[in-house]
Amino acid sequence: MDRYRLLDRYFTISIDGTGRLVFPKRHCPHCLTRTRNGKTTYYHPVLEAKLVTPNGFAFSIMTEFVENPGKNPTKQDCELKAFYRLAARLKKRFPRLPICLLLDGLFAGGPTFALCEQYRWKYFVVLQESDLSSVHKEFEALLPLASENHLRFLTGVRREIQQDFRWMNDISYVDSENREHTIAVLECL
Ligand SMILES: [Zn+2]
Repeated sequence: MDRYRLLDRYFTISIDGTGRLVFPKRHCPHCLTRTRNGKTTYYHPVLEAKLVTPNGFAFSIMTEFVENPGKNPTKQDCELKAFYRLAARLKKRFPRLPICLLLDGLFAGGPTFALCEQYRWKYFVVLQESDLSSVHKEFEALLPLASENHLRFLTGVRREIQQDFRWMNDISYVDSENREHTIAVLECL
């Protein structure tokens, strides 16, 4: 897999929820439950760590079940909590592997950044408009000062896909626990 390392160094590993089994009746003590319009469904999501490559291969390397400890938990398990368990297992199993995590906006936040810094992992988090609004604001405010941070990239079989990248390094983000993180923002249009 060495030829697929990012920048010849990092293995890109995506972590995402998947494989949702849904039951109309309680299936076991660990089911997550959701009640809508008076009707309760029971389900078992899993969180998957997958080694992914630029040409579209994805190899599952670790799975963490999202499940409750018992029938009536005070707070249900969730993908975010499962993420911390999965990350700890991943670090233990591959302590020296240069890893770059690929995450969606659900995981955007101080605890994820701090954990990646602690484990010395790199990370990409795909942000939606609603994620980390202070980061969006600072990105838009600083960008006019760095108009050279722009690249037009043509891709696709006939180079028919045009992608416009804009980026800004060293954006500061203060999380809910007042920890400061320095991140880079990359926008693709
Ligand atoms: Zn169950």
